[in-house]
Amino acid sequence: PLPVEPGSKLTLDLAALYDHSSPELTHVARYARGIQQRRGDYNGRILSIRADDLAALAIIYDTTPSSLLEKLSELGVLISDPAKFFAELKD
Ligand code: C2E
Ligand code: C2E
Ligand code: C2E
Repeated sequence: PLPVEPGSKLTLDLAALYDHSSPELTHVARYARGIQQRRGDYNGRILSIRADDLAALAIIYDTTPSSLLEKLSELGVLISDPAKFFAELKD
């Protein structure tokens, strides 16, 4: 099953993404920084991005959006439930 249901929000864990040593994430990290700059959204722990942006990134990685989602999930940079994510941070 997909880590993110179609129609649900695509949310990235920015600390996990930016700290990740994997060269596979270079383009995703650069893209996320670009979105943060355009929004002026600099202080967030997490970033919700557009479905269109996933499609653009899939082209960059020469894969499909669902395969890229799976990869992001495996690498631990996807957040499926932001409310739960913040609840666990407080523990
Ligand atoms: P824009 O696309 O002309 O959007 C203008 C404003 O409409 C955005 O200002 C935001 O307040 C709102 N908006 C547009 N689409 C959505 C949406 O799907 N959800 C939500 N919650 N709001 C939406 P904002 O956030 O200051 O962004 C300024 C500009 O930065 C946007 O202008 C767009 O050109 C770019 N941008 C921001 N975030 C993204 C993103 O995730 N992906 C892409 N491709 N561009 C983005
Ligand atoms: P949610 O989408 O589940 O997001 C939960 C919290 O994750 C947000 O709390 C915010 O702290 C963080 N978050 C999610 N996406 C981003 C992001 O792109 N940048 C940053 N800096 N933080 C992010 P918050 O802001 O109190 O919002 C609570 C709920 O209110 C959201 O739950 C969502 O359901 C709704 N909401 C907030 N802003 C928007 C918006 O622009 N558009 C829509 N449609 N709903 C919004
Ligand atoms: P969201 O704000 O809950 O928006 C959910 C979906 O509603 C968006 O999915 C998009 O299909 C539609 N939508 C919401 N606002 C607008 C709008 O102003 N114009 C148009 N044309 N469609 C809109 P999408 O694009 O996959 O975005 C997913 C999430 O990414 C959004 O959830 C929001 O949290 C974030 N996001 C996307 N674009 C922007 C943006 O420009 N600025 C900000 N601050 N957040 C954005």
